[in-house]
This record gives sequence, C-alpha cells and structure tokens, in this order.
Amino acid sequence: MKNATKPDGTQENSEAKSNPRIRTRLIHGLSHTGRWDYNHHVVPPITASAAFRLDSAQRGAQGFAEFGADENDPKTHKTIYVYDRLDEPTRGMLEDNLAFAEKGEIAVGFSSGMAAISAALCVLAKADEHIVTHKVLYGCTYSLITGWLPRQNIHATLTDLSDMDALRDAIQPNTRIIYFETPVNPDLLIIDIRGVRNVVDEVNAKRGPDDHIRVVVDNTFATPFCQRPLELGAHVVCQSLTKGIGGFGTDMGGAVIGPRTMHRDLVMYRKDFGGSLSPKSAWPVLVQGLPTLATRMVNYQKSAMRIAQYLEGHAKVAKVHYPGLASFPQHELAKRQMFDDRGRFAPGSMVYFMLDDPQNNGEPAARFIDWAADNAYCLTLAVSLGQIKTLIEAPYSMTHAAMPEEEKRALGLMPGGIRISVGLEDWHDIIADLETAMSQV
Ligand SMILES: *Cc1c(COP(=O)(O)O)cnc(C)c1O
Repeated sequence: MKNATKPDGTQENSEAKSNPRIRTRLIHGLSHTGRWDYNHHVVPPITASAAFRLDSAQRGAQGFAEFGADENDPKTHKTIYVYDRLDEPTRGMLEDNLAFAEKGEIAVGFSSGMAAISAALCVLAKADEHIVTHKVLYGCTYSLITGWLPRQNIHATLTDLSDMDALRDAIQPNTRIIYFETPVNPDLLIIDIRGVRNVVDEVNAKRGPDDHIRVVVDNTFATPFCQRPLELGAHVVCQSLTKGIGGFGTDMGGAVIGPRTMHRDLVMYRKDFGGSLSPKSAWPVLVQGLPTLATRMVNYQKSAMRIAQYLEGHAKVAKVHYPGLASFPQHELAKRQMFDDRGRFAPGSMVYFMLDDPQNNGEPAARFIDWAADNAYCLTLAVSLGQIKTLIEAPYSMTHAAMPEEEKRALGLMPGGIRISVGLEDWHDIIADLETAMSQV
C-alpha cells in the first residue's frame, strides 16, 4: 500500500492505514512484512511449495532454530521458511488477518475446525488434568472430549455453563480449561463469557500460574464480525474456517487465536501432529471469505431476523430460537456480547426452530425437511453453515448424532428441531420456500 511522501522525504501513514476498521483491514491486510512481500500484487498469490530452498546449511539450521522461537519481530524479521507444515506465507497472511479480526495477539491455522479445537485442548491440558465444558457441544467436539481425550487421561465434566453455580461446582483442583460454544450449536443458548471469566478469575487468584484455568470459546457460530470473545474475557478462541469465515463452502480449515505465550506450543503441536492448514485452502479464506465477512454477515442477519419473525408468527411452529428476537430468553445478554466493531447488535445468521410435534417423534420436521430437500429452491439440506446458500439440517440426527439420545432429549434437543443457516438469497424467496415446506407438515 502506498504512503504519502512528505516534502522532507519521510512517509506519512494515512489514518486508514494506521488504524483501519475491521472491514477494511480484512480486505487489505498487511501486504508487506518480514514474513511476506506482496506489495506488488492486488491479490496475494497462492503459494504452493512443500519445501523451501535454503542457501546454505547454516541458513537451514537457522530456520529450524528460529521456528516457534518467537523472539523476533515478525513485522521486520525475515522468516526463513523451511517446510509447509512448519510455516508458509499464504497461511501466515491469513493468520495475521484472523488475529486482527478476533483481536488476538496470534492465530495458528489448522486443517479443520476439529484440528484447531483438539490442538487448543491438548496444548492447555495434559494427562490427569480436567476440562469443564457446556453440556451441549458440536457433535465431533463432544466425541473428542468424551471419547478420545479420556484415553489420554484428560477427563471432562459436562455441565450447564449458563448457570455460574453449576460452573463453580464443576471446577476441580486439576481443572485447566473451561470450554464452550456461544451461541451454542444448535440451540443458540448464550453463555455469558464475562460471567465465566469472573468465576475463573476468582479461582485463579488462589492458584499458582502453572495451575491457572483458561477460558476457551468456540466462536464459529458468531464469527468475529458478531462477537470477539477475547475482548469479553476469553483467553483463547477456536474457529472452524469451513463455516462463516470461509463463507463459500469450498474448503476446510480451522484456527486457534490467543495470546503470544501460546504460539510456540501451538505451532510445535501442529508441526508434530501434522494438522496444518494447506495454503490452497487458506487462500480462498484469505482473499474471498474474510474480506467479505462483514458484508455477508450484515445481509445474513437482516434476512435471519425476517425469517425468525416469520417462523415466530407461524401457527405450526412451537418455538423459535434467534438471539435477535425480543422473545429470545437471553436477548439482553446477547446484546451485551454480540455486537459488531461499531457496537451495533449482531445476533448472527443461525436460526433454530421446532415445529409442533404432539407425538414428539420428529415426524412433522421430517416431512418439512424431506419436502425441502427434494423441492425447495433456496433451502439446501446439508450440514455446515455460514455459506452464501441457505442450509437446513436436523441436528438431532445429523450434526449432533454423536450425543446419546436420552441425553439430547434431557437437554431439550428434540428430533423435531431444525437448524437454518441463512444465506445471501433474497429473503422473500427463502420465506416462500419455508411457506411451501410448512404446507407439507
Ligand atoms: C463445524 C463446527 C466445528 C468443526 O469444524 P470443522 O471445520 O468441520 O472441523 C466446530 N465447532 C462448531 C460450532 C462447528 O459448527
């Protein structure tokens, strides 16, 4: 980016360059740092080199020695790239923009949201330590925490994190992580990030720094456009880049965003467990997904509000969950933690609703979904979310299949629940499709 040159030859940054707003920064990024120089590109390139040419054995040794060492200023120190799995520039540029979007010090890119979540948990907790999570979790996070981590002797207590007394009760001397999504996938319950942090601060005040508890938030549903958990008290954020940030549904990716003190462990973990985000997948997120995030979210939200209102007024709908609705039980809490970088309420693009289902067997929802899957124009039956196409799914039997049936029912997740990820279609057309699907119920 060009700078104005003053008469004495020194350069002056414009205000936009020295302090850009999020939307602007995510379009331009930093085109020139010690880690890459794309000053003469309009669109940064996809780099595609598994290994990098080293000029000498000494330079190779220096590249390895500096990897993860973090003592050099990345803005000016020229990175010695060695091997894609360690570090690479397209992914690096995306990481820089993600850290900015989430207001974190650093971001580390992984091959999927699950690779990011497993890295965050395994970097922060080791054998014989304990995790407290909210009791409703994305299905694969649930099976990671209840199925795989116990094999490494990391056990979890699943509780209701909208209840601070339940959180206090669940914390043990060996607890190291409080983990949750907010809004929760799929029922959009809001967990009070600041409230959780306050409880954690009380506990940490009585502990040595090595035993501190960290608050880890999965911010996939909200995206950093609607919510920046690090500013609200979370220590670490996980993202599935596959969803709202990627936005176009072409690639998988994930990221952990947090303090610089975690950077070395995260990149070393990624180096050794191998779940590095491919530059070919980082690139569409860097040049298409993140730069359009703000514009897409503004439009998703407008349509989501109309759709939530439409559903709320429909005789066959028993319940609608959308944080933007005044009837949403946690509407006030949602307003306190979901807002864009200019402070405007940003309730997101996800809507969850339940059809009237007197038998509670999910049959009306099945008729609705089957009609939509086969006949609707704008409603696509598919998991995933945050794309330009409106997606619907049945969490009970699809994304949350890993959770046991009795548990789901006890938590209010019923077979009749339908999740909508609102896309960029004209909202009249989305509602027209919903209306016809309703007539099949
Ligand atoms: C999809 C999803 C994930 C996992 O992300 P992948 O990129 O599919 O691995 C994690 N958390 C939430 C809330 C999700 O919706």
